[in-house]
Amino acid sequence: MMSIPTAIGRQADGAILITWDDGDESRWSPGELRRLCPCATCREKKRATAAPSSKPVGLPVISAAEARPLTVESMRPVGNYAYNISFSDGHGSGIFPFPLLRREPSTTKVSNTSAGSNTSAGSTSAPDVDVTDEGR
Ligand SMILES: [Zn+2]
Repeated sequence: MMSIPTAIGRQADGAILITWDDGDESRWSPGELRRLCPCATCREKKRATAAPSSKPVGLPVISAAEARPLTVESMRPVGNYAYNISFSDGHGSGIFPFPLLRREPSTTKVSNTSAGSNTSAGSTSAPDVDVTDEGR
């Protein structure tokens, strides 16, 4: 069964926090998402940079758009399986399927199962529950 996002929020630093229907959360920085872009253009670009090239050595260039801090402009659902993410650098053709957005939990969750009853004995302040109206 595929997980569905139940909430997507932008955090103060621009990171995207996706909450899944099973309670898990995935946090993405805009740069991470941008590098992950699965569209044909980006895949091609990635392959080109990964392959050993015989191009003449040039000094690295950064464009004005790249120099600005990257942000996620919008995330629009595509069908029921993916999001189309637009970035502030003008790129917005990537379709991110849910399994891609839901990264594998890299940190092993520490399940805090401390055995021990936590019942507070003799509590004087009872919760304010109205049980007077039982109907009969
Ligand atoms: Zn792309």
